[in-house]
Amino acid sequence: MKKPKLVVANWKMHLTIHQASVLVNRLSKTVNPHRGVEVVLAPNYLCLQPLSNEIDRRQFRLAAQDGYFIDEGSFTGAVSFAQLRELVQYSIIGHSERRRYFDESLETVRDKVAAAVRNNIIPILCVGETKEERAQRETKQILHDQIVTALSNLTSEDVSNIVLAYEPIWAIGGSEPAKPDIIEKAVSWIRYQVRELYGKEVEDSVRVLYGGSDEPEFVADIMSIKGIDGLLVGHASLNYEQFADIIMGVHLATLNDSDQADKG
Ligand code: PEP
Repeated sequence: MKKPKLVVANWKMHLTIHQASVLVNRLSKTVNPHRGVEVVLAPNYLCLQPLSNEIDRRQFRLAAQDGYFIDEGSFTGAVSFAQLRELVQYSIIGHSERRRYFDESLETVRDKVAAAVRNNIIPILCVGETKEERAQRETKQILHDQIVTALSNLTSEDVSNIVLAYEPIWAIGGSEPAKPDIIEKAVSWIRYQVRELYGKEVEDSVRVLYGGSDEPEFVADIMSIKGIDGLLVGHASLNYEQFADIIMGVHLATLNDSDQADKG
Protein backbone atom coordinates (compact mmCIF):
# COMPACT_ATOMS: atom_id res chain seq x y z
CA MET A 1 0.00 0.00 0.00
CA LYS A 2 1.25 3.48 -0.83
CA LYS A 3 2.36 5.46 2.22
CA PRO A 4 0.91 8.93 2.73
CA LYS A 5 2.91 11.97 1.69
CA LEU A 6 4.65 13.65 4.58
CA VAL A 7 4.90 17.31 5.57
CA VAL A 8 7.19 17.93 8.53
CA ALA A 9 7.41 21.23 10.41
CA ASN A 10 10.87 21.80 11.86
CA TRP A 11 10.36 24.57 14.41
CA LYS A 12 14.03 24.43 15.43
CA MET A 13 14.82 26.45 18.61
CA HIS A 14 11.82 28.75 18.11
CA LEU A 15 8.66 29.21 20.22
CA THR A 16 7.99 28.96 23.94
CA ILE A 17 5.48 26.42 25.22
CA HIS A 18 2.77 29.07 25.12
CA GLN A 19 3.67 30.23 21.59
CA ALA A 20 3.75 26.64 20.33
CA SER A 21 0.34 26.02 21.80
CA VAL A 22 -1.06 29.13 20.11
CA LEU A 23 0.40 28.02 16.75
CA VAL A 24 -1.04 24.51 17.09
CA ASN A 25 -4.40 25.99 17.96
CA ARG A 26 -4.35 28.15 14.83
CA LEU A 27 -3.15 25.26 12.68
CA SER A 28 -5.82 22.95 14.00
CA LYS A 29 -8.47 25.42 12.87
CA THR A 30 -6.87 25.98 9.46
CA VAL A 31 -5.61 22.56 8.37
CA ASN A 32 -8.10 19.91 7.29
CA PRO A 33 -6.99 16.29 7.68
CA HIS A 34 -6.35 14.74 4.24
CA ARG A 35 -6.16 10.99 3.85
CA GLY A 36 -3.05 11.03 1.67
CA VAL A 37 -1.05 13.53 3.73
CA GLU A 38 0.52 13.06 7.14
CA VAL A 39 1.47 16.26 8.96
CA VAL A 40 4.22 16.05 11.57
CA LEU A 41 5.21 18.81 13.98
CA ALA A 42 8.73 18.92 15.41
CA PRO A 43 8.84 21.43 18.31
CA ASN A 44 11.60 21.67 20.91
CA TYR A 45 11.69 19.00 23.67
CA LEU A 46 9.86 21.19 26.20
CA CYS A 47 6.80 21.52 23.99
CA LEU A 48 6.38 17.82 23.21
CA GLN A 49 4.49 16.86 26.37
CA PRO A 50 1.96 19.72 26.35
CA LEU A 51 1.42 19.45 22.59
CA SER A 52 0.86 15.71 22.83
CA ASN A 53 -2.16 16.50 25.03
CA GLU A 54 -3.42 19.21 22.68
CA ILE A 55 -3.19 17.71 19.21
CA ASP A 56 -5.74 15.58 17.44
CA ARG A 57 -3.71 12.64 16.13
CA ARG A 58 -5.84 12.39 12.99
CA GLN A 59 -4.54 15.85 12.18
CA PHE A 60 -0.98 16.00 13.50
CA ARG A 61 1.77 13.73 14.72
CA LEU A 62 4.85 14.71 16.69
CA ALA A 63 8.55 14.44 16.01
CA ALA A 64 11.60 15.21 18.10
CA GLN A 65 14.35 17.27 16.50
CA ASP A 66 17.06 15.02 17.92
CA GLY A 67 17.67 12.43 20.63
CA TYR A 68 20.60 10.75 22.39
CA PHE A 69 21.91 7.44 21.11
CA ILE A 70 22.12 5.72 24.52
CA ASP A 71 18.79 4.76 26.08
CA GLU A 72 19.47 5.49 29.76
CA GLY A 73 22.25 6.55 32.12
CA SER A 74 24.37 9.33 33.55
CA PHE A 75 24.38 11.72 30.58
CA THR A 76 23.45 15.09 32.05
CA GLY A 77 21.36 17.20 29.76
CA ALA A 78 20.60 14.46 27.25
CA VAL A 79 17.18 13.12 26.27
CA SER A 80 17.04 9.60 24.89
CA PHE A 81 14.83 8.06 22.23
CA ALA A 82 13.71 5.61 24.94
CA GLN A 83 12.27 8.63 26.79
CA LEU A 84 10.88 10.23 23.65
CA ARG A 85 9.05 7.15 22.46
CA GLU A 86 6.04 7.89 24.67
CA LEU A 87 5.56 11.23 22.92
CA VAL A 88 6.73 11.04 19.31
CA GLN A 89 6.30 8.87 16.25
CA TYR A 90 9.20 10.45 14.35
CA SER A 91 12.53 12.13 14.99
CA ILE A 92 14.61 14.36 12.76
CA ILE A 93 18.17 13.02 12.88
CA GLY A 94 21.40 14.39 11.39
CA HIS A 95 20.04 17.83 10.55
CA SER A 96 22.86 19.94 9.08
CA GLU A 97 22.62 22.34 12.03
CA ARG A 98 23.33 19.45 14.42
CA ARG A 99 26.17 18.19 12.26
CA ARG A 100 27.63 21.72 12.07
CA TYR A 101 27.01 23.37 15.44
CA PHE A 102 27.07 20.24 17.60
CA ASP A 103 29.84 18.43 15.73
CA GLU A 104 27.78 15.37 14.97
CA SER A 105 29.88 12.90 13.04
CA LEU A 106 28.66 10.36 10.51
CA GLU A 107 29.00 7.70 13.21
CA THR A 108 27.02 9.69 15.80
CA VAL A 109 24.21 10.09 13.28
CA ARG A 110 24.37 6.34 12.57
CA ASP A 111 24.05 5.54 16.29
CA LYS A 112 21.13 7.95 16.68
CA VAL A 113 19.31 6.41 13.73
CA ALA A 114 19.78 2.95 15.25
CA ALA A 115 18.60 4.18 18.68
CA ALA A 116 15.46 5.71 17.19
CA VAL A 117 14.63 2.53 15.30
CA ARG A 118 15.29 0.40 18.42
CA ASN A 119 12.71 2.55 20.21
CA ASN A 120 10.10 2.37 17.43
CA ILE A 121 10.62 5.97 16.38
CA ILE A 122 10.85 6.61 12.64
CA PRO A 123 14.02 8.52 11.79
CA ILE A 124 13.80 11.43 9.37
CA LEU A 125 17.43 11.29 8.29
CA CYS A 126 18.68 14.58 6.84
CA VAL A 127 21.40 14.51 4.21
CA GLY A 128 22.82 17.25 2.04
CA GLU A 129 25.90 19.05 0.82
CA THR A 130 27.35 22.49 1.49
CA LYS A 131 27.77 25.12 -1.23
CA GLU A 132 31.52 24.45 -1.34
CA GLU A 133 31.01 20.70 -1.66
CA ARG A 134 28.62 21.27 -4.56
CA ALA A 135 31.12 23.63 -6.22
CA GLN A 136 33.81 20.95 -5.82
CA ARG A 137 31.43 18.38 -7.40
CA GLU A 138 31.42 16.35 -4.19
CA THR A 139 27.64 16.14 -3.77
CA LYS A 140 27.34 12.47 -4.75
CA GLN A 141 30.20 11.41 -2.49
CA ILE A 142 28.82 13.38 0.46
CA LEU A 143 25.33 11.92 0.06
CA HIS A 144 26.78 8.43 -0.36
CA ASP A 145 28.86 8.68 2.82
CA GLN A 146 26.01 10.16 4.87
CA ILE A 147 23.53 7.50 3.75
CA VAL A 148 25.76 4.44 3.82
CA THR A 149 27.10 5.23 7.29
CA ALA A 150 23.77 6.24 8.80
CA LEU A 151 21.99 3.09 7.66
CA SER A 152 24.81 0.66 8.33
CA ASN A 153 23.40 -0.82 11.55
CA LEU A 154 19.88 -1.36 10.22
CA THR A 155 18.14 -4.32 8.63
CA SER A 156 16.33 -4.00 5.29
CA GLU A 157 13.05 -4.02 7.14
CA ASP A 158 14.22 -1.14 9.36
CA VAL A 159 15.33 0.83 6.32
CA SER A 160 12.04 0.31 4.50
CA ASN A 161 10.31 2.33 7.23
CA ILE A 162 12.66 5.28 7.46
CA VAL A 163 12.35 8.71 5.89
CA LEU A 164 15.23 10.46 4.14
CA ALA A 165 15.26 14.22 3.66
CA TYR A 166 17.43 15.82 1.00
CA GLU A 167 18.39 19.20 2.45
CA PRO A 168 21.06 21.02 0.44
CA ILE A 169 22.63 23.20 3.13
CA TRP A 170 23.04 26.13 0.74
CA ALA A 171 19.26 26.23 0.18
CA ILE A 172 18.26 26.27 3.87
CA GLY A 173 16.86 29.47 5.37
CA GLY A 174 16.55 31.39 2.10
CA SER A 175 13.65 32.53 -0.03
CA GLU A 176 13.92 29.99 -2.84
CA PRO A 177 14.43 26.24 -2.85
CA ALA A 178 16.99 24.43 -5.00
CA LYS A 179 15.98 24.18 -8.68
CA PRO A 180 13.88 21.12 -9.56
CA ASP A 181 16.58 19.53 -11.76
CA ILE A 182 19.06 19.69 -8.87
CA ILE A 183 16.56 18.17 -6.46
CA GLU A 184 15.64 15.47 -8.96
CA LYS A 185 19.26 14.41 -9.53
CA ALA A 186 20.00 14.30 -5.80
CA VAL A 187 16.83 12.37 -4.96
CA SER A 188 17.48 9.88 -7.71
CA TRP A 189 21.02 9.38 -6.35
CA ILE A 190 19.69 8.97 -2.80
CA ARG A 191 17.19 6.36 -4.00
CA TYR A 192 19.92 4.61 -5.99
CA GLN A 193 22.03 4.27 -2.80
CA VAL A 194 19.12 2.65 -0.98
CA ARG A 195 18.43 0.33 -3.94
CA GLU A 196 22.09 -0.71 -4.20
CA LEU A 197 22.25 -1.56 -0.51
CA TYR A 198 18.78 -2.96 0.19
CA GLY A 199 17.03 -3.65 -3.13
CA LYS A 200 14.17 -2.20 -5.13
CA GLU A 201 11.41 -3.11 -2.71
CA VAL A 202 13.08 -1.17 0.12
CA GLU A 203 13.75 1.75 -2.21
CA ASP A 204 10.06 1.86 -3.15
CA SER A 205 9.05 1.79 0.48
CA VAL A 206 11.36 4.56 1.70
CA ARG A 207 9.95 8.08 1.66
CA VAL A 208 12.21 10.88 0.47
CA LEU A 209 11.48 14.50 1.35
CA TYR A 210 12.94 17.76 0.15
CA GLY A 211 13.84 20.52 2.62
CA GLY A 212 15.29 23.99 2.02
CA SER A 213 13.24 27.20 1.72
CA ASP A 214 9.96 25.45 0.96
CA GLU A 215 7.46 28.24 0.43
CA PRO A 216 3.87 27.74 -0.73
CA GLU A 217 4.47 28.96 -4.29
CA PHE A 218 7.11 26.28 -4.95
CA VAL A 219 5.20 23.29 -3.57
CA ALA A 220 3.53 22.16 -6.80
CA ASP A 221 6.85 22.14 -8.69
CA ILE A 222 8.71 20.29 -5.95
CA MET A 223 5.98 17.71 -5.46
CA SER A 224 5.95 16.95 -9.18
CA ILE A 225 9.61 15.86 -9.02
CA LYS A 226 10.02 12.11 -9.47
CA GLY A 227 10.83 10.30 -6.23
CA ILE A 228 9.66 13.06 -3.85
CA ASP A 229 7.20 12.06 -1.10
CA GLY A 230 6.90 15.27 0.85
CA LEU A 231 8.58 18.26 2.43
CA LEU A 232 10.61 19.17 5.49
CA VAL A 233 9.70 22.78 6.20
CA GLY A 234 11.69 25.18 8.37
CA HIS A 235 10.85 28.88 8.68
CA ALA A 236 7.60 28.72 6.67
CA SER A 237 6.19 26.24 9.21
CA LEU A 238 6.23 28.96 11.90
CA ASN A 239 3.57 30.88 10.02
CA TYR A 240 0.27 29.02 10.22
CA GLU A 241 -1.14 30.44 7.00
CA GLN A 242 1.96 29.58 4.99
CA PHE A 243 2.23 26.14 6.53
CA ALA A 244 -1.46 25.44 5.88
CA ASP A 245 -0.94 26.51 2.23
CA ILE A 246 2.02 24.15 1.95
CA ILE A 247 -0.07 21.26 3.30
CA MET A 248 -2.84 22.13 0.86
CA GLY A 249 -0.28 22.17 -1.98
CA VAL A 250 0.90 18.69 -1.02
CA HIS A 251 -2.70 17.48 -0.81
CA LEU A 252 -3.41 18.84 -4.31
CA ALA A 253 -0.29 17.08 -5.57
CA THR A 254 -1.59 13.76 -4.20
CA LEU A 255 -4.86 14.33 -6.09
CA ASN A 256 -2.87 14.89 -9.31
CA ASP A 257 -0.93 11.69 -8.58
CA SER A 258 -4.10 9.63 -8.26
CA ASP A 259 -5.52 11.21 -11.47
CA GLN A 260 -2.35 10.10 -13.29
CA ALA A 261 -2.60 6.63 -11.76
CA ASP A 262 -6.25 6.33 -12.86
CA LYS A 263 -5.33 7.33 -16.41
CA GLY A 264 -2.33 4.96 -16.43
C1 PEP B 1 15.42 23.04 7.63
O1 PEP B 1 16.36 23.62 8.20
O2 PEP B 1 15.14 21.85 7.86
C2 PEP B 1 14.67 23.80 6.64
C3 PEP B 1 14.02 23.14 5.71
O3 PEP B 1 14.69 25.16 6.81
P1 PEP B 1 14.05 26.29 5.88
O4 PEP B 1 12.73 25.78 5.37
O5 PEP B 1 13.94 27.45 6.76
O6 PEP B 1 15.01 26.46 4.74
